[in-house]
Amino acid sequence: TRANIAIDGPAGAGKSTVAKKLAAELGYTYIDTGAMYRALTWKVLQEQADPENESAVLHILQQMHLELDMKNGNVFVTVDEKDVTDAIRQQDVTSLVSFTARHARIRSEMVEKQKKLAEKGGTVMDGRDIGTAVLPDASFKFFLNATVEERAKRRHAEQLQKGMQSDLTQLQTEIAERDRIDSERETAPLKKADDALEVDTTAMTIDEVVSFLLGIVRE
Ligand code: C5P
Repeated sequence: TRANIAIDGPAGAGKSTVAKKLAAELGYTYIDTGAMYRALTWKVLQEQADPENESAVLHILQQMHLELDMKNGNVFVTVDEKDVTDAIRQQDVTSLVSFTARHARIRSEMVEKQKKLAEKGGTVMDGRDIGTAVLPDASFKFFLNATVEERAKRRHAEQLQKGMQSDLTQLQTEIAERDRIDSERETAPLKKADDALEVDTTAMTIDEVVSFLLGIVRE
């Protein structure tokens, strides 16, 4: 059977870009778990529900139809048949996603879905709790890190490239705040699994990170 590879780390550490490339190299499926929490948050905003209200958020999660698809190397996300691929990357979702993701009952539903997506192996899954909670038995676990300054710079460049508005200082504040909430929550906080390999990517290019991980996986 094919392996599962877990990639965790703080916001903007390059997880999704690295995970996508690694999956392509291996012929594996990339699963973006952040997109799942973002899609839920988008729906919560749509319904004008309170992200802090666990029961309300859970109800929305249980009603919504969420799909993740890969097309031409990109993740496409649909909620109730609507394409929300771009909408879930917007500021309104980004600033609230950590609040919807904090609830224990939301996390257990998400973890269950994610485990199912990986049950046949051959996946590269990225998130915050993959090595600790979703795939504790993953064959490979990586924790990608970089200084918050570097992570903000990368996100800034990415947004400018997409033609999005972007403020570097604001990005750094937003990233640090999201990491704080993700690290301080009670259920499966952002944390390196004891058996994960931490990779400091501050001075590395994406391709360097990908070949480093490939070297370990193919060993
Ligand atoms: O990976 P991304 O930055 O898109 O994730 C958005 C948010 O979703 C994170 O800041 C975190 O609050 C939540 N998340 C999570 N657990 C995961 C993936 C994402 O709590 N496995």
